[in-house]
Amino acid sequence: MKNFKIYFYLNVIKPIWMIVGLTFLFNCSQAVFNSPQITEYYPQNIILFIGDGMGVSQVTALKTVEGVIALEKFKQLGLITTWADTNYITDSAAAGTALATGYKTRNRAISVSLSNEPLKTVLEYAEERGKWTGLITTKSITDATPASFAAHVDNRNNQIEIAEQLVQSGVEVAIGGGLSYFLSASQEGGRRTDEVDLIAEIEKTHIFIRNPEELSDLPDTQGVFGLLAMNNLPKATERSLSLGEMTEKALRILSNNQNGFFLMVEGAQIDPAGHENNYEYLIGELIEFDKAVGVGLAFAESDRNTLVIVTADHETGGFAIAGGSVKKRMIDKPLFASGDHTATMVPLFAYGPQSELFEGIHDNTFVGKAMIELINR
Ligand code: MG
Ligand code: ZN
Repeated sequence: MKNFKIYFYLNVIKPIWMIVGLTFLFNCSQAVFNSPQITEYYPQNIILFIGDGMGVSQVTALKTVEGVIALEKFKQLGLITTWADTNYITDSAAAGTALATGYKTRNRAISVSLSNEPLKTVLEYAEERGKWTGLITTKSITDATPASFAAHVDNRNNQIEIAEQLVQSGVEVAIGGGLSYFLSASQEGGRRTDEVDLIAEIEKTHIFIRNPEELSDLPDTQGVFGLLAMNNLPKATERSLSLGEMTEKALRILSNNQNGFFLMVEGAQIDPAGHENNYEYLIGELIEFDKAVGVGLAFAESDRNTLVIVTADHETGGFAIAGGSVKKRMIDKPLFASGDHTATMVPLFAYGPQSELFEGIHDNTFVGKAMIELINR
């Protein structure tokens, strides 16, 4: 009887328990392998690329025409909802505020709440942490998207005030258009209504340039303020300095800081191309934006300490593709359902430490909140 019990244990009970145990362990290990690899490794640098008005159809057109795009190297993907607090269809001010601060506001508001209280931005947190910061755009640097990161005004039209706040923001690199908002009333082309000389202010701390050709020859060791056009820069196909070249220069400067950096790069003219329902304009801007993303990605790949995020503030134009050819790399039936922004979700791409956080469907405020949390680690 006793032997039978031992026999029964060794040959029946024990194997059953071993199978149960092994199955359990196997499932646990599977759960570990299947769950996203949330690392305890936080990025020192963040590069945020914003394609203003870049929806999923825009990315599809880019892929069709280019064949291989930088955006497809990203493995962590998501979608974000873009509506504003009091507007279903957002503008770039409310959406920029959401991305920069993690809070929703009303259209036209630049990083202020519904009651006009300033909302602290990821760029301001980065400055506070001793990081260097940069803003690059292909429109005016005082326009809603870059302004949302470094200014607080109740109306985006107040670009004279935005210019002043940008100069005071502590940003190490600023490259874009909008020179006229920095020139005093008596200076040629100046749009200011006062005699404040913001260029003189900038030159106390930064190298100031207004000629795009000068950028590449500047030393990498000093901050730069490049105001390369009175208002917006020329279209991508007509620019003497590409968004990628601006990004490369900014990274060379910002990477000199041991505490890391935050850089926002905006493909700003994807949006006006959508407003104009101009497919040729649109695709030119998208191609150039993707090349700049490639520059950021290459930096992050070798640096291993940089989180790259690419997203949009909203879709523009209700762009749809009704015909084209992969072989001929062309779209022959571009359609536009709107001359304005739409509410469709926009894509989100992430690469680098903590990029897993951005997978899935989120609200645009999540991007701002997550970046601020990562900057403050
Ligand atoms: Mg913009
Ligand atoms: Zn727009």
